[in-house]
Formats: sequence, C-alpha cells, structure tokens
Amino acid sequence: MKKLVTLKKDYSIKLYSQMTKDKAPKYIYLPMDEKAKIKSDFLIKKEQRITNQGISPVSGRLIGSKYCDTVTKKNIKCFVILNDYKETYQKRRAALKNITSVSLEKIITELKQHNCISLSEKLKHSKKGCTLILNGMDDEPYVANEIFLSKEYYFEILETFDALREKLNASSTKVVMKCNDRENIENFENQMGTYLEMELLVLPDYYLIAEEQFLLPYLNLEDNYLILKPSEIKTMVTVVQKKHYPTEVVITISGNGIENPQIIETKIGASVKDLIQQYIKIKKNIDVIYCINGLLVGEEMDISNLIVTNDLQSIMIMKKEILESKECIRCGKCVSICPMNCNPKKGFDTNKQKYFSNCIHCGLCSYICPSKIDFKKIISGEKNETKVHEIPF
Ligand code: SF4
Ligand code: SF4
Repeated sequence: MKKLVTLKKDYSIKLYSQMTKDKAPKYIYLPMDEKAKIKSDFLIKKEQRITNQGISPVSGRLIGSKYCDTVTKKNIKCFVILNDYKETYQKRRAALKNITSVSLEKIITELKQHNCISLSEKLKHSKKGCTLILNGMDDEPYVANEIFLSKEYYFEILETFDALREKLNASSTKVVMKCNDRENIENFENQMGTYLEMELLVLPDYYLIAEEQFLLPYLNLEDNYLILKPSEIKTMVTVVQKKHYPTEVVITISGNGIENPQIIETKIGASVKDLIQQYIKIKKNIDVIYCINGLLVGEEMDISNLIVTNDLQSIMIMKKEILESKECIRCGKCVSICPMNCNPKKGFDTNKQKYFSNCIHCGLCSYICPSKIDFKKIISGEKNETKVHEIPF
C-alpha cells in the first residue's frame, strides 16, 4: 500500500458551518456554440436550453455577448443573460421521476444523452454483485464540497445510493468519510437503523485518500467495485428528474486573505468576480491572489473575466507573499514524500521530465520542499522561477 501523509493545516482558515445559496446572480454568461441562433432581447425561461451544452439557470433577457475565461484557460464568447429574478419555468413535458423507479440502463442512457459521459461509462462498466462505495471525502486542504453536499442533500444522496445498491445487487455497501467530518459521521450513525445494508468506514485525514488509486488498497479492494461521490449522485438525480445537466455547482471559497471562508452553491455561468464581491470579505490592507481548484494542485488565475463552470471547484484567496526560492539543500524530502515514486530532485537538477513520468500532479513535492522550489512549473515543462507563493501549512 502506498504511503500517505497528513498535511499540516492553518486552523485560522475556518469554513462557515452552513452552505451559502447564491440564487440571484445579476448576469449569467453561457458559452455560445456555432448552432446557437438566439437574437438579443430574447426572453429566456429558467432551465431553457439555449445552446447544445447550455441550460439557462435563471429566467431573464438575453442582452448580448462577451468574452469570458474558463478554468481550463480558454477565452470564449458567451451569451449574457440579465436575470429578471422571476424564476419562470418552461412547461415541462415529463413529470419529475423518482430515481428508484427508473432502471439502471435508463439512467446510463439519460446520463450519456445529457453529456455526463464519464459517469455514464462508470455505471455501464459496473457489475452486478459489486462493492458499492459512497466516497464523501474531499482531499484538497480547506475544500469541503463533497462534505457540504453530503450534509445539505443527505436524504436524497442516501436514498439514491440505496436504490443503486438494489439495482446492482451490491455484495456490500460502504460509506467512507474522513475522521474530521464529525457532523456527517453523526448524521449517518443516526440513520444506521434505516439503511441496514450500509456500513460506515471512518478513515484517517490523509491527503489523497479520496483518490480511487489510494482508496482501493486502503479498503483491500482490487476489482468489482463502483465508487461514487455525493456530487455524482446529485448529478444523476438531476439528469433523471429534470432531463438536463445540473445548472448549479458547489464551490469552496476560502484562504487566509478573507474573513469569511464558505461553501457557496451558485449558478453555472455566474461571474466569479460578482460572486466574490457579493459574499466575500477580503481582509483589509492586503494584496491577494486567487488560486483556482486547490493550493496543492491548482493554479493562480486572474478572475476578472472568469465564469463559474462545472469544473470550478474552489477559489483560494491568499495573501500575496513573494518568497525567494532557495538552493536545493539535498534533504531528499521531495523524493521520500512522492506517492508515485518519482524523483523530483533529479528532475529539478537535470530539468528532465522523465523523472516525473508517473506524476499525478498532487503537489506534495512543492509542499514539502524547505527551499520552496516550485515543481509544478518544472513538471509542466516551464522554467523554474525564483518567485513562489507559500502554501500556508
Ligand atoms: S507532484 Fe508528482 S512528483 Fe511531486 S509528489 Fe506529486 S506525484 Fe510526486
Ligand atoms: S525537498 Fe527541496 S531542498 Fe530537499 S532535496 Fe528536494 S528539492 Fe532539494
């Protein structure tokens, strides 16, 4: 089994205990596609499909277009919808369905039709009699999207998971949580009498344990399993019930540059800058930087034109601290911490990417290095720079 480590944390970065629900962004920016033929001043209903991939999460008026940035560093032309806050829906043809009454084959087909390809494939390749695992853990420090989804949609998630257990005739059903997720552990323990087939496993707070390749050996599993996250179950429910991809996502906004770290459920297409202006208090008299999708694995980005997409998971707002990267002191810590047996030190010395051939971009080598060497840049083929941002552990 691979060695895993517990990260040291800055306990002054504390998330609010309740999820904030952002129901009313003023503008929504939805990526255009070539086939979209909608004129300005067009009235849009909530959940109306306006492009191949784009469902409007609000009702309102189409007022034009604008170039916006995405997490994947694309600059794309988007429709701009001005929210009218009326939440008027199109009449739906199909009545809402309960996932328990839909066959597994139908769920797989619906997911594929609504562009949830990886989730659809995952279910398609699962076998009858498998071990079914609900993985309610987050790995990135200060990020708690899965934990908050489990807490907020507790009943819906457990009911759906239990329905899947029956559909797959699962040989065993496990719910895994980290030992510091006390509220979800307590909630689950209170429900043990209702879900008799499920077993709760409380795991140590190791970084990367939520990743399938590290979780499986920990659970002594090799094959015939299906691992699902609360966010995937939520997607499944939305697709089956509403016949479209979810129009809302959960994002952690945290970091040592703000006073009120929190989890926000917001609309896909909302402006990140507007979201931060509305809900986040930046500490006074400091400069901050924005790290997208995690301190260890994410990247610093300019958020001026960034929009919320379904691959945006977290925004870490950090005090800007410029530290000099120093000479390697040959301590060997980067080599011994690497869970994939890479040789970051040799990669740094020779500037050769072959020493990172198994790299999973977990960020542990940069985290542990006392000389603050930024391996991320070397791994991605960029030249190392002397200025780095320190991770607050
Ligand atoms: S980022 Fe890559 S090289 Fe560095 S510790 Fe993680 S797997 Fe190893
Ligand atoms: S952890 Fe940093 S200082 Fe230590 S051997 Fe690796 S690169 Fe050098």
